[in-house]
Order: sequence, then C-alpha cells, then structure tokens
Amino acid sequence: MSSGTALAQLRHWVFDMDGTLTIAVHDFAAIRRALEIPPQDDILAHLAALPVAEAAAKHAWLLAHERQLAEAARPAPGACELVRALHGRGCRLGILTRNARPLALVTLEAIGLFDCFVVDDVLGRDEAPPKPQPHGLLQLASRWAVAPGELAMVGDFVHDLSCARAAGARSVLVNHPENPWPELTDLYARDCAELQRLLG
Ligand SMILES: [Mg+2]
Repeated sequence: MSSGTALAQLRHWVFDMDGTLTIAVHDFAAIRRALEIPPQDDILAHLAALPVAEAAAKHAWLLAHERQLAEAARPAPGACELVRALHGRGCRLGILTRNARPLALVTLEAIGLFDCFVVDDVLGRDEAPPKPQPHGLLQLASRWAVAPGELAMVGDFVHDLSCARAAGARSVLVNHPENPWPELTDLYARDCAELQRLLG
C-alpha cells in the first residue's frame, strides 16, 4: 500500500465512472435477465459471442437502458469536489469505463463534471478493450506521453484494480466500507471525499 502523500504527486488520474464518480445504479441481474444472459457470464463478453444480428439488437437495448440511467446519474460522495480539485491543480484527467463513451459524456454532464475532461480522454467500451484488460490505461499513458507508473486508476471494482496492475499504474479503490482486494490496491479510501483528504 502507498500513502496518500506518495500518490498526491501524480499528475495523471483516470477514473472509472459507474459506482466511482456516480452512485451505482446498474442492476446487472436485471440486465442479464432482460437480455437472457446467464448470471455467471460477463455481459459484454456474452454479447460479443452472439450472432451479429442478435448481438446488435441486444447492444441497442443495453444502450437505451443505460442512457436512461446516465441521464439520471447522481455524483458519488465527494466525487465532484475531488475531480474539481485535481482539475484545478492542472492534472490530466481521463475516464475508463465499460459503458459506452456517449453515455459516459451524458453522465459527466448530468453530474456537472463535463468541463473537467477532454472528450478524447474518455474511453468507453468501443475505444479500448474492456477492463480488466490494460489497453485503455496504456492508451491514455501514450496519449499523455507519460509512463503508466505515473497514472493512478480510481475505481470501485476488482476489474479497475486488476486493470491498473496489468498496466503498471497505481490502483486506488473507493466506495467500499472496507477493502476486499488489498493485494491489488495501492491506496484505499472509503469514498472520494476521504481520498481527497488523503491526498492532502
Ligand atoms: Mg464501477
């Protein structure tokens, strides 16, 4: 585990969206039922393996469903203050989400953070292979011309942490009452408000 002060030096921050900057509202069990996806299957991997027409129809349903959620998104505790503070310090900020980029932009608008991000630094499932694969983070590191070790990835799920590990970036976990994945975590904070305090 690193200290907050060590990570406070970082100038490049990548955030997961759903459940990290927003209060988690996705009901993945309901999505799986609606799309006839077995409970144990990864939703995006399942859709990718379907015949083209069926995959397209189910992706369209998913997009419409997620657009409604995006428009109603609410910020997670401390998320807006943290992002504004990093932005104010001149840090480069990115989003790496398994959601679609257009919906990530709708979500950023809904929670009032759209102006803190450059659109090209918002990577959704069509811009990079989904987490836990490291490509999205590597893409941002390359866009920003820094080593992956100079990036922090902030997320609320094991995929976010594994993605950071695989890319060689720093992993930050938020929005859990305690840390279920300490071996994958460089810094843990209960929420973004605590993370902001730890960074000083
Ligand atoms: Mg998440």
